[in-house]
Amino acid sequence: MTYLTEDHLAIQESTREFARREIEPIAQTLDLEDKQIPDEVLAKMGALGLFGVTLPEEHGGLGLDTAALCVVTEELAKASLSVGSVIHRNSTLGHILHLYGTDEQRTKYLAGMASGDIMTSSSGTEPEAGSDAANIKTTAKRTSNGYVLNGNKQWTTFANRADLLFVYARTSNEHKHGGISLFMVEKPAGKFLPPNLTGTHIPTAGYHGMKSYSLALDDLEVPESALVGGVEGQGFRQLMSGYETARITFASRCIGLAQAAYEEALAYTQQRVQFGKTISNFQAVRFRLADMYTQIQAARSMTFAAAEAFDTGKRADLEAGAVKLFAAEMAHKVAWDALYLHGGNGYAIDSKVNRYWRDAGLLPIGEGTSDIQREIIARRILGER
Ligand SMILES: Cc1cc2nc3c(=O)[nH]c(=O)nc-3n(C[C@H](O)[C@H](O)[C@H](O)COP(=O)(O)OP(=O)(O)OC[C@H]3O[C@@H](n4cnc5c(N)ncnc54)[C@H](O)[C@@H]3O)c2cc1C
Repeated sequence: MTYLTEDHLAIQESTREFARREIEPIAQTLDLEDKQIPDEVLAKMGALGLFGVTLPEEHGGLGLDTAALCVVTEELAKASLSVGSVIHRNSTLGHILHLYGTDEQRTKYLAGMASGDIMTSSSGTEPEAGSDAANIKTTAKRTSNGYVLNGNKQWTTFANRADLLFVYARTSNEHKHGGISLFMVEKPAGKFLPPNLTGTHIPTAGYHGMKSYSLALDDLEVPESALVGGVEGQGFRQLMSGYETARITFASRCIGLAQAAYEEALAYTQQRVQFGKTISNFQAVRFRLADMYTQIQAARSMTFAAAEAFDTGKRADLEAGAVKLFAAEMAHKVAWDALYLHGGNGYAIDSKVNRYWRDAGLLPIGEGTSDIQREIIARRILGER
C-alpha cells in the first residue's frame, strides 16, 4: 500500500486526538507508578471501537482492514506502549474466535470483545515453553461435563484485569502440536479464582500499564463449551493463525514507540547547547537523527505492505515475520539513540526517553523473539516450509 485512504486518515486523526487528550497526560504516571491502564480510559477506547477495528460489523466491530488497525496502533503506542498493546488481545483473539469459534461462541463473546466490555488475555507461554510454544505441559482432562485444567503459565499479560482468559492446554500427549487445544476461562475482572486459578505479578523494567502474571491452574473446571471450536487438537493451528496479524500490528507498536522517541530527540537536540551551539549542529547528531527518521519510515512502509498482503487472505507469515523482526530491532535501536542524544538526562528514570528505552527492551522478545523471526524467514526463503 503506497497511500492511506480517507478512512485510514480519518481514524488516524481521531485516534491521534484521543491519544493526545487521554493517554499522553497519564503515560508517565502509568510508567513511573507501575499502574494499570484506568478502566475509564479502557471504556473510552471501547466507545471509539478501538478493541474491534478489524472485527466484523455483524459482531460489533468496525470491519476495517489491517492497515486501519496499524494506524490506530501506532497512534496509541506513540503515547504509551501498553495502551497501544491492550487492544491487541481482543483483536487477535477475536480474529481467532471469528475464524474457529462455534456460532454460539461467536455470538456469546465477539460483540463484547469488540466493544471492550469483555477484556481478554492470552495464556500460552509456560516456564518451559516460550519460543518452543508447542512444548506446553498444562493439561486439560475430559470430565463428564467439561474439562479440568492443571498446570503453570508464565507471562500472561493483563490476566488480572481480563474477564476471559484464552488458555492453551494439552488434551493429548500423542502429538506435540496436534495435542494442544484452546480454552476460554471466564473470570471476574480484577480477580483470579483461588484456589483453582491464582496469579503472581512479575515485575518488569517497562511496559507498565499492563501487568504480566505467572498463573497456577489447579483443578480448574471449565464447561465443554469453553473449548474453542468444539474440537480438540486445533489449538496450535489457532495460535499460529493469530500470529500473522499479531506480528504485523506488533510492528506498528514498535513504530509508534520509535516515532515518539525520535520526536523527543529531535526537539531536545535543537534546544541543548554545548560548545556554544545547539547539538543538532554537530554532524554526528544530525546523522543519527537522519538514520532514526529513515529507519522508522522503512518500517512503516514494510508494515503497510505486510498488512496489505495479510488482507489478501494468502499466507503472510514471511511478511509478518520480516516486519516484526525489522520494526522491533529498529525501535530498540531508535529508543537507545534517543536516550543517547539526551546524554545523562536520558538516563534519568523519569525522562520520557528512559521510558521508551525500557519499554523497547520488550520489543525484540515479545510475540516471538527476533531470532525466531529470522528462523521463520529463513525457512520460507529456503523453501523448507
Ligand atoms: C512483558 C512480557 C509480556 C508477555 N506477554 C505474554 C502474553 O500475554 N501471553 C503469552 O503467552 N506470552 C507472553 N509473553 C511471553 C513471550 O511470548 C516469550 O517471552 C517469548 O516468546 C520468548 O520466550 P521465552 O521468554 O521463554 O524465551 P526462550 O524461548 O527461552 O528464549 C531465550 C533465548 O533463546 C533464543 N532461542 C530459543 N529458541 C531458539 C531457536 N530455535 N533458535 C535460535 N534462538 C532460539 C531466543 O531467541 C532467546 O534469545 C510475554 C513476555 C514478556 C517479557
